Amino acid sequence: MSPLLSVVAPIYNEGPGVDRFVRRLGQVLGDARLRYELVLVDDGSTDDSWDRIVRHSLADERVRGIQLSRNFGKEPAVLAGLEHAAGDAVVVIDSDLQHPPSAIPAMVQRWRDGAHVVEAVKRNRTGQGLVGRLGGKLFNRAFTRLTQVDLVDATDFRLLSRPALDALLRMPEHSSFFRGTSSWIGFRRSTIEVDIDHREGGASRWTVRSLFRLAVNGLTSFTSAPLHLVTLGGLAFAAFAVLLGAQTLIKWLRGGSVAGFPTVILLLLVMGTFVLLGLGVIGEYLARIHEEVRARPRYLVQEKSARAVADVPEQL
Ligand code: UDP
Ligand code: MG
Repeated sequence: MSPLLSVVAPIYNEGPGVDRFVRRLGQVLGDARLRYELVLVDDGSTDDSWDRIVRHSLADERVRGIQLSRNFGKEPAVLAGLEHAAGDAVVVIDSDLQHPPSAIPAMVQRWRDGAHVVEAVKRNRTGQGLVGRLGGKLFNRAFTRLTQVDLVDATDFRLLSRPALDALLRMPEHSSFFRGTSSWIGFRRSTIEVDIDHREGGASRWTVRSLFRLAVNGLTSFTSAPLHLVTLGGLAFAAFAVLLGAQTLIKWLRGGSVAGFPTVILLLLVMGTFVLLGLGVIGEYLARIHEEVRARPRYLVQEKSARAVADVPEQL
């Protein structure tokens, strides 16, 4: 039998977008004559997304639905899909059609040519304001620098071979960061360029706050560089203090008067800020450790929906 491709898509309140997505994927994968399964993960939607998923899974045995018990967030939803995927290769794709399904056959071809990880990198950045665009760029660059895991222009739209996927699933971290972990594992890689489309319907669920959380999670779970930065900053302050102390001492020995009220206030402010920032950074790591130690499941499944292949495909 020809190899099986699993397509994993997280879905959160996409409504009619679900039908659009399933139809589009069926077209593309059908045209490319690929043997595939579609793993749709409902991340605790509050609209009719799950009903739509169930309908599709009953109509087509290649479509499987997994419903999480509540909204866990995109990362856990993707993980749920990956753990349930049965394919020889998996493609992770957004269900809002921002990631063009038409790129999948090309990704599969790269995999057949021997790549284990095929990343879609964006030729453009759409659907985001200037701040989002700049912020995203800045974060990806900083991340790439600090961790040696290349994220520049990366997306979550990627294909993993079975060996690469198994390697990824061995990571026990609770705060997974798919874009990072799927790069960290290594393996023979390949990239293709895609145009990220505008959202077809609905709105992006990301707020500045949740993006900030994602960034902090990604950083703290990949590098302890910020901690070292705090140490370095502390050292710099110590050196500065010694110099300033020496200067004051010399002044005083020469009989000059030491007027320093503004200096004192300024120093207090700077020090205070730095100490608080340092504490904050340590706190972030402490929180991460706390989360890992609690070791709660990363997602919970409430219901699954699939038509067993054995079900006689009556009139459809
Ligand atoms: N998503 C999800 N859980 C969430 C938020 C989003 O599963 O809590 C899904 C959503 O349905 C979509 C994908 O993750 O398929 C990307 O979400 P979105 O379009 O909101 O993010 P953006 O494209 O702006 O990064
Ligand atoms: Mg989107």
